Parts: sequence; C-alpha cells; structure tokens
Amino acid sequence: MKFITDGMLGRLSRWLRIIGYDVKYVRNAADEELLRGAEEEGRIMLTRDRSLYAMAKRRGIGAILLEEKDLFGQLTRLVELGAIDVNPSSESRCPLCGSALREVGRDEVAGRVPAKSLALYEEFWECEGCGKVYWMGSHWRRIGERLKALEDFKWRLAGEVP
Ligand SMILES: [Zn+2]
Repeated sequence: MKFITDGMLGRLSRWLRIIGYDVKYVRNAADEELLRGAEEEGRIMLTRDRSLYAMAKRRGIGAILLEEKDLFGQLTRLVELGAIDVNPSSESRCPLCGSALREVGRDEVAGRVPAKSLALYEEFWECEGCGKVYWMGSHWRRIGERLKALEDFKWRLAGEVP
C-alpha cells in the first residue's frame, strides 16, 4: 500500500515511513497535484480536508479522511481500517525523504553524529537518498514502544492474544 498525504499530515507521513511505507508528502501541494499524484501513482490519499476527500471520492480515488488531530489517533485509525499493518520489524524508510536506509558501521559515521551518540550506540543507518544518519536514540525507542502498543491493539482487534 502506497500513500500520498496532504500538507497537514507531515508528522504522520514521517511515522509511516519509519514503519516502512512508501509515502509521498509534498508540503503546500495544490489539491489537483495531490489528486493527480494519487491517480497516476496508484496511491491512497490520506487527508484531513473534507472537500479534498470528497473530490477524491468523486474521481474514484482511494482516500481516507482522518478526523483525528493527534498522531497516535491517526495511526490507530489506519490500523482499525486495515490500511496499515504495524510491524516494527519491517524495513524503515528515511522519515525525511522516504528512501531506503542501509546499515553502516560506526567508523563510517564518525564525525557525522555527536560524539556522545557515537560512543553510546553501535547500530547506525544511513539514508540512501539524502544521506542523513540515524541511530536508535531515545526518540526511536519511544517510537518503538508506541508501535508495540499499536501492534497489541491490532491483535486485540483481531480477537487474538498477542
Ligand atoms: Zn533521506
């Protein structure tokens, strides 16, 4: 499942990429640009904009209206609808540009991450698109916990014990 998101869903877009989804997010994109992107690339449109949602429906574009304002509520809604499958072990994409990440050694990132992080962590990933380096800092651990909570939620929906 590939997505295209409206300008109000930047944070959700970054998280969906971390989960591993292909997300096209264009800041300040015009409605028509979003609709065409969905049509031409076969992407499901995620939007908080009622009129944009209605336009998409009229054109037969798969679209989901997200009324939730908060990130966790939005992710939960997508799980409920079966639009996303939260699997923390799936390959993450760069939250900034959506490209694939490759694991790199500590020696390859020396000088590019804070010395403290270099000393504390052993696993680093580099984005093949924009070159940004990531590591499992506290921020990512929090994300992991949230995803785990979502995973449990998904199992509850399915009526099974995790
Ligand atoms: Zn990137």
